Amino acid sequence: MVVKETTKYLIGRLWRDWLQSQFVRISGAVFFMVIVAATSALYPKVIELAVDMLADSDKRVITLLPAAIIIITFIRGIASYSQSVLNQSMSLRVIAELQKSMFSKLMYADMKMMQDTKTGNLISRFTNDVNLMRDALSRTLTVLGRELLTAIALIGMMFHLDWILAIIVVITLPLAGRPILRLGRRLRRASTNVQTSLGSLTSTLAQSFNGIRLIKAYGMEKQQNQQSEWLFDEVYRLIMKTVKGRARSQPILEILGGFCVALVLAYGGLRVISGSGTLGEFVGFLSAAIMLLQPIRSIGNFNASLQEGLAAVKRTFDLLDTKPEIIDHHQAKILNQAIGNVELIDVSFSYENNRPVLDKVSISIKEGQTIALVGPSGAGKSTILNLIPRFYDTDSGSVKIDGHDVKNIATASLRSQISIVSQDITLFNLSIADNIRFGDFSADLDKIQHVAKIAAAHDFIINLPDGYDTVVGERGTTLSGGERQRIAIARAMLRNAPILLFDEATSSLDAESEFLVHNAIKRLSEGRTTIVIAHRLSTVMAADKIYVMNEGKIVEHGKHKELIAKNGLYSRLAQIQFQYEKNS
Ligand code: ATP
Repeated sequence: MVVKETTKYLIGRLWRDWLQSQFVRISGAVFFMVIVAATSALYPKVIELAVDMLADSDKRVITLLPAAIIIITFIRGIASYSQSVLNQSMSLRVIAELQKSMFSKLMYADMKMMQDTKTGNLISRFTNDVNLMRDALSRTLTVLGRELLTAIALIGMMFHLDWILAIIVVITLPLAGRPILRLGRRLRRASTNVQTSLGSLTSTLAQSFNGIRLIKAYGMEKQQNQQSEWLFDEVYRLIMKTVKGRARSQPILEILGGFCVALVLAYGGLRVISGSGTLGEFVGFLSAAIMLLQPIRSIGNFNASLQEGLAAVKRTFDLLDTKPEIIDHHQAKILNQAIGNVELIDVSFSYENNRPVLDKVSISIKEGQTIALVGPSGAGKSTILNLIPRFYDTDSGSVKIDGHDVKNIATASLRSQISIVSQDITLFNLSIADNIRFGDFSADLDKIQHVAKIAAAHDFIINLPDGYDTVVGERGTTLSGGERQRIAIARAMLRNAPILLFDEATSSLDAESEFLVHNAIKRLSEGRTTIVIAHRLSTVMAADKIYVMNEGKIVEHGKHKELIAKNGLYSRLAQIQFQYEKNS
C-alpha cells in the first residue's frame, strides 16, 4: 500500500501513532529548552548593563555582573544538557519502536512480498532511513523548542532594548522563508532517490559478500568492482544533489543575516551619535542581532532535514501498511494433532499473474505414506511443497489436510504439523544445539542428543571443538553438506510433526555420508506422511507412489514398476538417473 505524501498527513500520523506516547519526554525537553532560550536572551541585557555601567564607572560591573554571568551560564549549561538527553532519548525510543514494528511486519509478511523485495532495500529501511528519521525528529524538537524559543526571546529582548530597530529585524527575516520552503520540496524528492540507491547498494554488497566463492571461482572480481563502483558513484551523485540543495539555503540566510546586522549597525550607530540612544542599548542590541543568526540559521536548515526525514517516514509507513494476503480466517480451525492425510484437488497456481506454474494438479496421500515427486527442473515440484504449509495461496483448487482446506486452518497450527527439510539448509550463527532446537524450543540437551543420534549427527558433533555448543559460522559454512543435512534432519525429527516435506539434495555426497543421510531420512519418515522431491533412484523406488510432473502438470503416477512399464517420461528419467548413478 502506498501512503499519502502530504507533510500534514505524515506529521499527523507520526504524532498520533509514535510521538504522543513520548509526551513526558517531549514536555521535559521543551521545559529545559524554555530555560535555555530565556537564559540566552539575558546575555544582551547583561552586555547592555555592562557597557552602561562602564560608561558611568559603576563598580558593580566587576562584582555583580560576573556573578550574574556565572549563574546564567550554570543554569543554561544544566538546561542544555537535560534538553539534549531528553530529546535524543525521545527520538531514539521512537526509532526503536518503529524498527520493532517494521521487523515484526516483515516476519509476518507474505512470502511473496519478501521474495519480491531486495534484502538490501529492506535492510536499508532499518539503517539509512532510520538515521534520517532520528535526525529529523531530534532536530524538529530542537528547532521548534530551543531555537525558535531562543529567537522569540531574543527578539523580545530587542523590542525591550529598541523597538524601532526590532521592527526592522522582524520585517526582514521572513523574506528568507519562501525560497527555503521551495528548496525543501525538491529535497524530499532527491532524498527519496538517495534512499532507493542506498537500498540497491546494500543489496549489491550483501550479494557480493555472500557470493564471494562464486565470484572468485569465475574470476568475476573485476566485473563486480565495476558494478559496485558505478553504484558508489551513483550514490555520491545523488547525495551531492541533496547536499547542494541543503547548502543552497546557506547563502540566503547568511546574506539576510548580514543585511540585518548592517541595518542595526547603521541605524543604531546613528541613534547613539545623535544622542537618542545609549551605547549600552546599542551594543546590547547588536549582540542580540548577532546571537539571533545562529537560531535563524538552524530554523532555515531545519526544513531540509525535515523533508529528508519525511521521505524516510513515508517509506516506513509504506512498509508498515503492507497487508499480508495470507491471514487467518476469523473462524480458522486450530489443527493440534493432524492425522496426516494430504490432498491437492485441481490446484492451479502462478507466482506472477500470467505464467501458470501448476495446472490442475491433483495428488492424494494417506497418513504415513511416502510419495515421491519427480520431473524435470522447473516442472513445479518445489511449488507443491510451498503450497502445503500455505506459503502461497492457490489460484484455484484446494489443498487439504485431513479434509480441511488449508485456507480454513490457523496458519501457525498448520505449520506446526509440518517439518520441512529443504535442499539449501539454513543454519543460523548459533550453537549446533540451538540450531537443532529450532524444531522445539522447549527441548533439553538430552532430547537434542537423542534426535541427533537418530539422525546420525551425534558422532560428528561430539568431535567438534565445543561439541553441541560449537557455533556454526554464518550460513553454516563450517560444516560439510552431509553434516548440514543431518542437522536439518535432527531438527525435523525434534519437531516430530506428522507431515514431512523433503527436498532431496541434488549434490552428491560421498558413499559414507550418503549412507548415513539415507538411513537418517528413512528413520525420519517412518510413520509420517512424507512428500519427497526425489533425485535419487533409491528414494523414488522406496516411495509408495510416484507422481511424475512436467510443465506444471502431473503426467504419470503409480509405482516404479508400473511407470517403467508405461515407457513414458518416468522411464526416460529413470534411465538417465540409473546411468548417472552407475557412472558416479
Ligand atoms: P527444480 O527441480 O529445478 O527445483 P521444480 O520442479 O521444483 O524445479 P519450481 O521451483 O516449483 O520447479 O518452479 C516452477 C516454476 O516456477 C519455474 O518456472 C520457476 O522459475 C518458477 N518460480 C519458482 N519460484 C518462483 C518465485 N518465487 N517467483 C516467480 N517464479 C517462481
